[in-house]
Amino acid sequence: MTVLPLVFDAPRRTTPPRHLADLTRAEARTAAVELGQPAFRADQLARHYYAGVTDPAQMTDLPAAVRADLTAALLPGLLTPVRHQSADGGRTRKTLWRLHDGALVESVLMRYPERATVCISSQAGCGMACPFCATGQSGLTRNLSAAEIIGQAVAAAAAMASGDIPGGPGRLSNVVFMGMGEPLANYPRVRKTLDALLTPAPHGLGLAQRSVTVSTVGLVPAIRRLTEEGLNVTLAVSLHAPDDELRDTLVPINTRWKVAEVLGAADDYARRTGRRYSVEYALIRDVNDQPFRADLLGKLLSSRLAHVNLIPLNPTPGSPWDASPLPAQREFVARLRAAGVPTTVRDTRGSDIDGACGQLAAADQVDGVPSVALATPSVPQPPVEESVSLGTDPDEA
Ligand code: SAH
Repeated sequence: MTVLPLVFDAPRRTTPPRHLADLTRAEARTAAVELGQPAFRADQLARHYYAGVTDPAQMTDLPAAVRADLTAALLPGLLTPVRHQSADGGRTRKTLWRLHDGALVESVLMRYPERATVCISSQAGCGMACPFCATGQSGLTRNLSAAEIIGQAVAAAAAMASGDIPGGPGRLSNVVFMGMGEPLANYPRVRKTLDALLTPAPHGLGLAQRSVTVSTVGLVPAIRRLTEEGLNVTLAVSLHAPDDELRDTLVPINTRWKVAEVLGAADDYARRTGRRYSVEYALIRDVNDQPFRADLLGKLLSSRLAHVNLIPLNPTPGSPWDASPLPAQREFVARLRAAGVPTTVRDTRGSDIDGACGQLAAADQVDGVPSVALATPSVPQPPVEESVSLGTDPDEA
C-alpha cells in the first residue's frame, strides 16, 4: 500500500520562517551573533540577498562550513516559483509564487525601453472587495510578511540583472504596489518593504523614492501615517468615481472614508512631499465613464496637486463589466484636460496573460491545493497592444 505524504494535512503555519529581510540591520547582526557568528556575517548575507544570490556555494566570502546553516537560518526560501507566463516578447513576465503555507501570490515584471517596473503583491487575496477586481472576489487569505513582499522585488531585480528578460542585463528601476492586496492594510510590513527598496545597495535595492508607488483604496488613517513618516514615495489613490454614491459601490471602503476625506489626506501628503499624487480611475463602460462624471472629476481635482491615471477596465471572468470604448475614453481624457487636470491612460501590458491591474487572482489554486511546481521557461506571446494613442503614463505601468 502506498502511503502518501500528508503534506496538505500538516498544520498551516501562517507566520513564515524568520528571514533577514524582516529584521533591521541591528536585529540581523544580533541574530548572527546568536547563531555563533560574528555580527558582520549578517551584512555579508544581506549583500548576497539583495544581489539575488541564493546558492550558498556562491557565497565565497563566508566560510564554507557555515554557509548552508546561515542561509537556512536567515535566508530561508519563502517564495517558490510555480509558473512564469510571458507576453510582449518576454518583456512582460508574470510569476505565480507559492508561499510556505500554500498561499499563492503573483507579481508582474514589465520591461520598457527606459525602465523596468515590477508590480508586487502585499497580501494573499484582498479584503477590500472592489467588485471589478479579480483579487477582491476571493477575500483576504493573509498579510504577507515583509520578506515575502521584498522577495518579489529582489527576484525581479535578479531577473533583470541576469539578462533573463530580453534586452540584455538591466536594472530594476520601479516598484508599484499594484498587485494583490491593499498595501496600507498591511502597513508595518509595507513600511519595512519601503525601507528595503529605498536603502542603497548593498543593504537594500537602492530605488529612488519617486520610482516606488504605493497604491491604496484610500485608508485615510494609514495615508496620514505615511504622511508623517517623511517618505517621498509616489502615492496613488484608487478613486474610480468622483461621487460618493457611485464610489460606495465600486470601492466599498468608501462607506467608511468618503471621497472628500480620502482626497483631503492625499492633499496633505502632496503638500508635505511637494509632489503630485496619482488618482487611479478604471474606465468602466456605462458605469463611471459618462461625460458628466469626467466633468465632476475635473472640478474635484483641478485645484489639487494630482494627476489622473485612467485604466481601461481589464475585464475579469464572470464580471458583467467591460472597458469603455475608445471614443468614450477620448472624451473623458479631453474633458479632464480641459479642466486643467494632467491626465494619462495606462497601457494594457500583460492583459493577455491576466497580468494587468486587477487581474491577479492566483487562479491555479484548485480545491485549496496549489498545482505542482512547474517553473517552466517562458513561452513568448504576441506583443500586447499599448493604448499609445491617448498617451501612456511615464511613471507607472
Ligand atoms: N489595493 C490597492 C492596489 C490594487 S491594484 C488599490 O486599490 O489601489 C492597483 C489598481 O488596479 C487599483 O487602482 C485598482 O483599483 C485597479 N484595478 C483593480 N481591478 C481592475 C480591473 N479589473 N481593471 C482595471 N483596473 C483595476
